[in-house]
Amino acid sequence: MPILVQKFGGTSVANAEKIRNAAQRTIDAVKAGYQVIVVASARGHQTDELVRDAMELNPNPPKREMDQLLSTGEQQTVSLIAMALEAMGYKAISFTGFQVGMLTDSVHTKARIKSIDAKRIHKELDEGKIVIVAGFQGIDENGHITTLGRGGSDTTAVALAAAVKAEVCDIFTDVDGIYTTDPRIYKKAAKMKEISYDEMLELASLGAGVMHSRSIEFGKKYNVKIHVRSASSDINGTIICAEALQMEGIAVSGATIQKDMAKLSLVGIDNKPGNAAKVFHRLAEAKVIVNDIMQTEISKDKANLAFTIGASDLRSAKDAVESIKNEIHYDSLFIREDIAEVSTVGVGMRSHYGIAEKMFSALAQAKVNIDSITTSEIRISVVVDKAQAEKALTAVCDVFELDKPAEKRSKK
Ligand code: ADP
Ligand code: ASP
Ligand code: MG
Repeated sequence: MPILVQKFGGTSVANAEKIRNAAQRTIDAVKAGYQVIVVASARGHQTDELVRDAMELNPNPPKREMDQLLSTGEQQTVSLIAMALEAMGYKAISFTGFQVGMLTDSVHTKARIKSIDAKRIHKELDEGKIVIVAGFQGIDENGHITTLGRGGSDTTAVALAAAVKAEVCDIFTDVDGIYTTDPRIYKKAAKMKEISYDEMLELASLGAGVMHSRSIEFGKKYNVKIHVRSASSDINGTIICAEALQMEGIAVSGATIQKDMAKLSLVGIDNKPGNAAKVFHRLAEAKVIVNDIMQTEISKDKANLAFTIGASDLRSAKDAVESIKNEIHYDSLFIREDIAEVSTVGVGMRSHYGIAEKMFSALAQAKVNIDSITTSEIRISVVVDKAQAEKALTAVCDVFELDKPAEKRSKK
């Protein structure tokens, strides 16, 4: 029998009516001949509420205890879904990450899945049950509960879909697909029919909160077909899949904005071999995820080294670079927290010219100053003042016609 993974995000299971609605979708899939694995998030804004509870008691809570606490949200949802399914006449069984052998590393609050032991799941499916797995959580080899980072239930779902070779991994959420940019900010954003893993990976890691970026890495590695769709309607959503030839024709397929960022600049660092290595070694030890790195030589002996990070890592990053000041010698540490990054992404950038010029001209016309620029083969990112970020995103979306479906954009 083919297997289907259905993931329901927080808003899609926020109350009893929504849980029943989700359960009905699962029943429809069972009736259509699938064995179904459901992955669920914590209900509504419960994870945020638990974070607030923790902060009230300890502004710098131990990460192990955060995982212990936050994992409880998902555990509640899965048992409630199982109860709803039973009440609707279907056999169901719920599991925590630990119970289904979701083994992760030990990096609390941003753990990575190492392996999944799907035997238990197959056994239950073969007995005719619907299996419901708590998203976002796992267990490390010492038996500590871990979580995969905010939004991590997507990764649980796609990793499970890969492990059981599911036909599709459905991601049910509060939007009806992936849009060219966040529709909450740019109201005119257009829905995409499909998007490549590479583009989605860039969009997700650049702040498109609709999918957890690790989930796309799994999707790409194991070629999992991912369907992002609305929990409240039956219309087709967006398929995330391997790159198709026609995708090259579109220069820019999406744009993102990342607001919770900080930038650290080591001004006048000694320009000698090994210094950059020391800085990033310390940052890695402190488990800081670095977004973009920029270094320029300013004289024969000195350089400026800057990097951007998520604002939540600022304290760890600052401590890390200050702890090696005597080894790497820099004149000053300049920190900015009032920045945001606006990016455009498209596999078509590889074969189109003039994209950077078009983006920078649009920003100039909107009177947005560019603080720094970074690029990859399929993206261009600019750091701007946080206060100007939404204006910058709008200018960029307008110039690349991201309000229109790809086939309706002008070809120039
Ligand atoms: P869930 O709780 O179902 O996991 P999320 O809040 O994590 O849902 O993700 C859905 C939200 O992602 C949408 O409500 C939307 O505002 C936001 N989003 C950001 N970028 C995009 C995008 N490019 N396309 C669609 N939604 C986006
Ligand atoms: N409940 C977790 C969060 O809010 C995981 C998820 O929803 O994917 O981040
Ligand atoms: Mg999410």
